[in-house]
Amino acid sequence: MKTVVPFIDLKSQYETLKSEIWDSWQKILENTDFILGEEVKKFEEEFSEYLDIERGIGVASGTDAIHLALRAMGIGENAEVILQANTFIATAFAVSQAGAVPVFVDVNPETLQIEPDRVKEAISPRTKAIIPVHLFGMTAPVQEILNIADHYGLSVIEDACQSHGAEMNGKKAGSFAQLAAFSFYPGKNLGAYGDAGFVAVNDGELGKRIEMLRNYGQAEKFNHLHKGFNSRLDTLQAAVLRIKLRRLEEWNVNRRKVADYYRERLKNTNVKLTKVPENCTPVYHLYIVRVSSRDKIREGLNASGIQTGLHYPCPIHLQPCYSELGYKKGDFPVAEEAAEQMISLPVFPEMTEEQVDYTTSKLLELISETA
Ligand SMILES: *Cc1c(COP(=O)(O)O)cnc(C)c1O
Repeated sequence: MKTVVPFIDLKSQYETLKSEIWDSWQKILENTDFILGEEVKKFEEEFSEYLDIERGIGVASGTDAIHLALRAMGIGENAEVILQANTFIATAFAVSQAGAVPVFVDVNPETLQIEPDRVKEAISPRTKAIIPVHLFGMTAPVQEILNIADHYGLSVIEDACQSHGAEMNGKKAGSFAQLAAFSFYPGKNLGAYGDAGFVAVNDGELGKRIEMLRNYGQAEKFNHLHKGFNSRLDTLQAAVLRIKLRRLEEWNVNRRKVADYYRERLKNTNVKLTKVPENCTPVYHLYIVRVSSRDKIREGLNASGIQTGLHYPCPIHLQPCYSELGYKKGDFPVAEEAAEQMISLPVFPEMTEEQVDYTTSKLLELISETA
């Protein structure tokens, strides 16, 4: 069966941006402005202004953004960092790369975002930081997390890799904590044409340190104040991001329209929708629903030409790479049950109401057949 509804459609988006991107890339190539070029500086300023933050630093990926943020805060050996069990594994890997230990917690059953009460229970004398993830393009309860962190003297890094432009009480995800991380992996709401990332900074001193850490730890050439990394935002990618940033709001509006269509057609059915947290303006990086007999239904959708995703089929505490931490099945029942029931339905700015119709009618048909 040929694809009727793709999961995302980067190709049709490229068609609308093509000439601008090639013009911009041509200039960079002709000026051989490859490393930390003019476009990087401009993108850092423009995305910082968009987020309404002090400043931002372009880095090589979202994983690196979290990793460098932890390093800049001095969080490493012997430190514990609290995060949710149902995020993309990169959140945990960044903690491990910094030399710290990830400590997982369960999530809210309605929103699937990190649950502040579970965070409080997980705090130990070794806890140094909390990483709330703004998951699926919705917002984490970041103000509650900041209050807890304040009370226990902990650092907070927002993982905003899935929430470019999402707002909580009119304030953008990634503008609440001292530091926040963004990914521009091609499939994200704001995506480059390769790997790219960004650290949002609301604390000047930490910003200076991250700027050094991404570029061999140097304050100026050959004066290395820190043991650094090579993790710079590529100039060609920054040029793509500047062009796409001008469309981000419009694309996010379209994603919300698609989500509205879904909600309209799936309310009062056996499909469990993911609740939007109060006071959150979501940007629907993913549209997650929960159903029983998930795998069968997913196969059926696929056979009807509808591509779907799984985010994520196995919570991190049960991944083989973290077996040394000693977690077991049953530790985080909400995240575990969600992992078995979740399907990510197609959502992208160019998606049409007809495509939503087709997807939801097939989905409901399959559910009545498997019931
Ligand atoms: C994509 C993503 C990352 C990692 O970003 P990369 O750019 O792929 O390194 C981290 N956390 C979350 C929640 C993500 O969705």
